[in-house]
Amino acid sequence: MKNQIKAYDSILDLVGNTPLVKLNRLTESLLGDFYAKVEAFNPGHSAKDRIATYIIAEAERKGILKANSTIIETTSGNTGFSLAMASMVKGYECILAVSSKSSPDKIDMLRAMGAKVYVCPAHVSADDPRSYYEVAKRLHKETPGSIYINQYFNELNIEAHYKSTGPEIWEQTAGQITHLVACSGTGGTISGTARYLKEQNPNIKVLAVDAYGSVLKKYHETGEFDHNEVYPYRIEGLGKNLIPTATDFNIIDRYIKVTDSESAHMARRIATEEGMFVGYTSGAAMQAIMQYHLEGEFDSDSKVVVIFPDHGSRYMSKVYSDEWMDNQGFFEGEKAFKPKEIEY
Ligand code: PMP
Repeated sequence: MKNQIKAYDSILDLVGNTPLVKLNRLTESLLGDFYAKVEAFNPGHSAKDRIATYIIAEAERKGILKANSTIIETTSGNTGFSLAMASMVKGYECILAVSSKSSPDKIDMLRAMGAKVYVCPAHVSADDPRSYYEVAKRLHKETPGSIYINQYFNELNIEAHYKSTGPEIWEQTAGQITHLVACSGTGGTISGTARYLKEQNPNIKVLAVDAYGSVLKKYHETGEFDHNEVYPYRIEGLGKNLIPTATDFNIIDRYIKVTDSESAHMARRIATEEGMFVGYTSGAAMQAIMQYHLEGEFDSDSKVVVIFPDHGSRYMSKVYSDEWMDNQGFFEGEKAFKPKEIEY
């Protein structure tokens, strides 16, 4: 008898089941054990592969998506990449309406993955017909059999993590997890994961990470949208200037805010101290752990799981560029970056 060929049916079969990796050097002086759920191991290099494949599968199951259907979304980030990947494998068209603020690198990456990208003016308000929200909505209306993912307001975003990330962490920690630390953007990751974990053990503490310049923490604490909380910041994918319905605020115990600079430095430390090349928001989540530690959240029995959402390669011209760091003023108090030739 011939040996069986060991191959996956498609790249999409590799979505999920990402590894949980113990942190060692970074957390040496902290109380408790710390484990990272490394989402860069997904084939599209981020946690967004989970929602892209789940939402598409649900639409197929309900008969909304048929051969040659179109998938529409408004993001230049990880979700766009994951949707393009899943669409190409399954033979759908993928249209992404993005802001002209998006870097040419990002737009090229989405096009390389087969997406049709509409670049919409960044300076117009969300309800302007030229904005990327309005363009996406219009394309959705005009394209029969299309689906609009709308990740900030899609309950399936939560469900995807409820059905995959949550059970994986419960199984990987043998039910011993005491704290979950995760970034809050759309809120899908933290809400879905936490909902599953708290169903297994309601004592698990759910600690969210927010950015300075985002309304989420204040909204969680007061139930009010405070416009004063909104101002520009650098971290992409973390925090928001609106209240997403894909966030279940009731399941989250606490929010903490992290700065652009400390998060960037922490991402670089994850690379150099743990050997994990991860994205900007992984740095933010790790920085939040340091702050939660200082506030006495953990003790020697704590088993803390932190989600590292994506891969460092997407941030070469940002967090991993000394020049960019220096231009942001992130080397303040340290020796400023000076490009120098290395002599042999
Ligand atoms: N990190 C990165 C890099 C992201 O792109 C996102 C998604 N906006 C998040 C974290 C937050 O995940 P979620 O949207 O599920 O809250």
